[in-house]
Amino acid sequence: MFFYNTLFRKKEKFEPFNPSKVGLYSCGPTVYDYAHIGHARTYVFVDVLKRVLEYSGYKVDHVMNITDVGHLTSEADTGDDKVEKKAKIEGKTAWDIAKYYTKDFFDMTGKLNILKPQVICKATDYIPQMIKIIKQLEEKGLTYVISDGVYFDTSKLKNYGKLARLKIEDLKEGARVGKNKEKRNPTDFALWKFTYLSGRSFDSAQDDGDERRQMEWQSPWGVGFPGWHIECSAMSMEHLGETIDIHTGGIDHIPIHHTNEIAQSEGATGKLFVKYWLHAGHLLVEGKKMSKSLGNYYRLKDVVDKGYDPLSLRYLFLTAHYRTEMNFTWKALEGAQKAFSKLKVQLATGNLQLTNKKEKRVDSKLDSQVEEYSKRFRNYLNDDLDMPRAIALVWEVVKSDIPDSDKYKLIVDWDRVFGLGLAGQEIRNKELVISQEVKGLVKEREKLREEKKWEEADKIRKEIEEKGYLVEDKQEKSIIKKKPRYDL
Ligand SMILES: [Zn+2]
Repeated sequence: MFFYNTLFRKKEKFEPFNPSKVGLYSCGPTVYDYAHIGHARTYVFVDVLKRVLEYSGYKVDHVMNITDVGHLTSEADTGDDKVEKKAKIEGKTAWDIAKYYTKDFFDMTGKLNILKPQVICKATDYIPQMIKIIKQLEEKGLTYVISDGVYFDTSKLKNYGKLARLKIEDLKEGARVGKNKEKRNPTDFALWKFTYLSGRSFDSAQDDGDERRQMEWQSPWGVGFPGWHIECSAMSMEHLGETIDIHTGGIDHIPIHHTNEIAQSEGATGKLFVKYWLHAGHLLVEGKKMSKSLGNYYRLKDVVDKGYDPLSLRYLFLTAHYRTEMNFTWKALEGAQKAFSKLKVQLATGNLQLTNKKEKRVDSKLDSQVEEYSKRFRNYLNDDLDMPRAIALVWEVVKSDIPDSDKYKLIVDWDRVFGLGLAGQEIRNKELVISQEVKGLVKEREKLREEKKWEEADKIRKEIEEKGYLVEDKQEKSIIKKKPRYDL
């Protein structure tokens, strides 16, 4: 299996530290606004990566952070905290803002069939771990304190900027990073920001009438909050150890966020932080960078409101390689929806239905043909997740003359990677198969309801839900449905 490693700008053979288990860390969303379809593309990429690893037999430990503090409006460690700023605008607490937009993010990923990471961690829950790393860096002489916070001295680290291939000497103050006269080097970045200048205590600041932040913590350097990058170092080390196999993000993370994650982590431990860096390309909308002012800033909700299935968007994403800059157009989505629907129809009612009638094998040539398709599919996955070719192969199989049941089996098996919900298409239009046990529970509940024993009936409803089904009460009758995979 080969992945394009941003660190070396080439495809490299994938060899995890533990031959059967992969540690995967993904930079998650900053939860101050609605997730848009650009985010959707990045997290579909992460999901496909994880599914490919699992399809290939690896056990994957997937960790993703939620940035609920410390991400400032300017990448240069200046400006407002995005979450706190939004809280002021909406007249809510910063904690409520974070909670609301976190839910929005997982609503979106759920609808896109994106599997949830094993560990989802919020920055605000890891302040002690972040402080510990900053202390380690301080002990190694890699930090200094100025009036607005504790900074990392990038000139003290050999190889700073290796991921982004930054030419430090070419960087002009104010170009990549904003002006801060107290900073020693233009690339230095904040590890800890003071709520009040020079880390004054909360009480003395209040005496001067300074406004208090909603999210702030005590630290050895003064009251404040963490810089954006330190959270990912702290949380990945906490859950996956000092060196991890794969770290993902969008390409916009390369020059600053991931560069600084490496500096902090490798500065503190003296060890390699990440073996493989994988980055998703940008998503343009109608040829332009997505922005609210251009009116081309779309959420998944907009896609659904226009009558598209979220999984049609997922299908569309799969038709472009994750590293390419992809141009989203409504026309392209229309095309994707048509193709996806056609595929579903093929699986549900068309040629590919699993039938009971036995199909005679004509000769062994067919078996080798099926084998050949499987092999090609794996080759595409192994070649840096070549989903466009894998999707094209699906259509080649559909049009081929191998037996229908083989077509069905191949495509449903491959859907473990695509995540398009293709398995089960054959029963969707038929009656739902419900176990005797669940049927018994439904009956029991109906009886309790007749007797107006609402509380007990409710307990049974919960039990039914735990078994993966939903009950809807329509007048006298209970209707049972398969529970969606995600709680939205
Ligand atoms: Zn990160």
